[in-house]
Amino acid sequence: MKSQDIRKQFLQFFESKGHLIVPSAPIVLKDDPTLMFNNSGMAQFKEYFLGNAEPKSKRIADTQKCLRVSGKHNDLEDVGFDTYHHTMFEMLGNWSFGDYFKKDAINWAWELLTEVYKIPKENLYVSVFEGNPEENVPFDQEAWDIWKELIDEDRIILGNKKDNFWEMGDQGPCGPCSEIHVDLRSEEEKATVSGKSLVNNDHPQVVEIWNNVFMEFNRKADGSLEKLPAQHVDTGMGFERLCMALQGKTSNYDTDVFSPLIEKVEQLTSLKYTSNEVATISEEQNKTNIAIRVIVDHVRAVAFAIADGQLPSNTGAGYVIRRILRRAVRYGFTFLNKKEPFIYELVAVLSNQMGEFFPEIKIQKQFIENVIKEEEQSFLRTIAAGLLILESLMQEVKIYQELSDKNVKPIISGKNAFDLYDTYGFPIDLTELIAKEKGFEIDLAGFYSEMQKQKTRSRAASEVSTEDWSVLIPGNVETFVGYDKTENEVKIT
Ligand code: ATP
Ligand code: MG
Ligand code: MG
Ligand code: MG
Repeated sequence: MKSQDIRKQFLQFFESKGHLIVPSAPIVLKDDPTLMFNNSGMAQFKEYFLGNAEPKSKRIADTQKCLRVSGKHNDLEDVGFDTYHHTMFEMLGNWSFGDYFKKDAINWAWELLTEVYKIPKENLYVSVFEGNPEENVPFDQEAWDIWKELIDEDRIILGNKKDNFWEMGDQGPCGPCSEIHVDLRSEEEKATVSGKSLVNNDHPQVVEIWNNVFMEFNRKADGSLEKLPAQHVDTGMGFERLCMALQGKTSNYDTDVFSPLIEKVEQLTSLKYTSNEVATISEEQNKTNIAIRVIVDHVRAVAFAIADGQLPSNTGAGYVIRRILRRAVRYGFTFLNKKEPFIYELVAVLSNQMGEFFPEIKIQKQFIENVIKEEEQSFLRTIAAGLLILESLMQEVKIYQELSDKNVKPIISGKNAFDLYDTYGFPIDLTELIAKEKGFEIDLAGFYSEMQKQKTRSRAASEVSTEDWSVLIPGNVETFVGYDKTENEVKIT
């Protein structure tokens, strides 16, 4: 089944159960000081759960464009390295605002997966909240009893607070959740270990596909829980993961959501991507695969963000988008040998593929291409300039080694690495990567100490942008920590 039809069937199914189908909210949030990007389906409905606004319907379903690159949900570092976490992904969801509760939610989820999509029951596992007496939250007996009617008990797993209890914040609506996981391993592999023990353990082929949250409590300021007067359902299913399960694949990148983009990269680079089914691959090919996954993932995030009005820039959300794009350029440069802009050429493919359902991509195709091309060009120039400097720095050390002291360590000083970063916008991990290839190390402690010094200097001459939410809520801003964890600078070039 094609991904387009999988999405359509989800929406039609919930429409047939009395849900109003609404469009995705923009991926970029402009009016929520606590969040830069939409990172789940429920974000646009937050006010309904808090009782500050009335929903148009008590039952709603949609597919939400999500971006998980900052704050509480930051999957950036996994992207490219695993086969089921993306920066940008679609979250299919259905909601009940004080209407149906656990019984219908669970039964419909099950009906959709096993009867409409026809996923074999013996490939599914579900989880139920085990309870947490210390915090006075009970075991979710109700969900357990409902699941017991649908699935063998040995396929129901008890989950802890981290995985199976959802809270909006320190206070406010919260409740247990029930997740659905799909086991996509081969029959031989299934015979070796039970999938039950692999659920929630990051096994690449035993993946969480759907989370059903049951908001039934309100957490008060003193930490105690009270029953909410009206109970709500909030669900989220990863669209790309669902496509993987339904298309008989073991990697999201082998589905038709990504394959046209991958084919285009292959054509532009004359390199080959190997599907997840290929058992043994060389180290070289593995690097190529990772780079291709990074690029086809990141172009979606960047294109959708631009379409929703967020241009790459040096501050706030724009800075996050710029760094995602630069990460893609860097992988292309280093592992696919692309020294000229090429990522922008993927936008036409994306537009063909997603433009029907998300017309914002189609309408703004040309504009998105121009922005991406321009960014690629300017970052590639930066890389070229930085490379020359780095080469000459390493050359100097080598000459010194040869002429004076053979034992001197091949190290790039923190100060030099920082200058490259500060003056040329040369990311530290790129410097590290290139240096490592030539047998050099970086004095990272020195680098971060230079960074700290500069922060102190720039705080004094503090420059702020009105786009940057840090201006609105000091101390409560999401910092982009995906690129390298220690960095929280906002301005780089
Ligand atoms: P995981 O444990 O795999 O990181 P999660 O528990 O963080 O997922 P939820 O917040 O429960 O995810 O989101 C609901 C659903 O969205 C998940 O069940 C999954 O199918 C999907 N999903 C979550 N994060 C991603 C991502 N980075 N890329 C693709 N799909 C995702
Ligand atoms: Mg996660
Ligand atoms: Mg999870
Ligand atoms: Mg989850």
